[in-house]
Amino acid sequence: MSTMKAAVVRSFDAELDVTDIEIPTPGPHEALVEVRYSGVCHTDLHAARGDWPVKPTPPFVPGHEGAGTVVAVGDLVTRVQVGDRVGNAWLWSACGECEYCETGWETLCPQQKNGGYAVDGSFGQYMLVDSRYCPIIPDGVDLAAAAPILCAGVTVYKGLKVTDTQPGEWVLVSGIGGLGHLAVQYAVAMGRRVAAIDVDESKLALARKHGAEVTVNAATEPHPSGRLQELTGGGVHGALVTAVNAHAFPQAVGALRRGGTVSLVGLPPDQFPLDIFTTVLFGLTVRGSIVGTRKDMAEAIDFFARGKVSPTYTVRPMSDINAIFTEMEEGHIDGRIVMDMTA
Ligand SMILES: [Zn+2]
Ligand SMILES: [Zn+2]
Repeated sequence: MSTMKAAVVRSFDAELDVTDIEIPTPGPHEALVEVRYSGVCHTDLHAARGDWPVKPTPPFVPGHEGAGTVVAVGDLVTRVQVGDRVGNAWLWSACGECEYCETGWETLCPQQKNGGYAVDGSFGQYMLVDSRYCPIIPDGVDLAAAAPILCAGVTVYKGLKVTDTQPGEWVLVSGIGGLGHLAVQYAVAMGRRVAAIDVDESKLALARKHGAEVTVNAATEPHPSGRLQELTGGGVHGALVTAVNAHAFPQAVGALRRGGTVSLVGLPPDQFPLDIFTTVLFGLTVRGSIVGTRKDMAEAIDFFARGKVSPTYTVRPMSDINAIFTEMEEGHIDGRIVMDMTA
């Protein structure tokens, strides 16, 4: 029996245990991946704490932004081979047969398995992926920088797509953090005109650096929505809310042009009011968006591989995982943390 180092959740009220566990064996459709880097997502923290109604079952290994190299494959694997660079993702697998899978909405499959939640994830030196669903990472790109694309990148890319905006139209990105700074870059690469809103001037400067034409500081601007309406000549056509601040959602809805769509990818702890009167009279759409399909993932990775999108991240050793979670809880993380799984 050969073993690897992994960060294991043994109970929801204890720290992760960085320890030796058995290297898994791939099933018929699975590949064994030597993980080089793994991003750390807020969802991993929620998984480790058992915060959500459907909880993972300890012991388990979190992580759904792992990038590495295939070292073994199961008997029925055709899509990848040993030596290929692949990742894992939140959408680890789906059934392939339900009405959602049949219509290209595998992200809504009720039978889906989630990486680092229902299936062990990337916080270990090896992980299994379902070869039919794993993201494929092209040669020549930096694996550390690729890791944040696998959840943060694809999430904002899909969220922008479902605003149903066209090139040349305005998109508002609300919250310029780990998700939002990527959203600004994707939106610019997709030909949208970008407005950004945040409460931190340095985040807005980052948004401008990445190509936002209009920025509004919600902490100092008395009427953020009205200001956005003015600066975009009548409101934004779409908005992507990544912020979890209580005011972010109503501000984004208030900044919409008539007929506009706001898409939500952040998971705030509280409920927000929706002004039904305005929503009806102005024909507004509010929709949620969860990660992305395999096709969305391939597109999101392609923007990255062509140099259109570059995540801001810091590399840390896996042994730092408990400190990283503490910093995440305290809101002290800028951009993304990517763990070096060999350190
Ligand atoms: Zn995630
Ligand atoms: Zn399905």
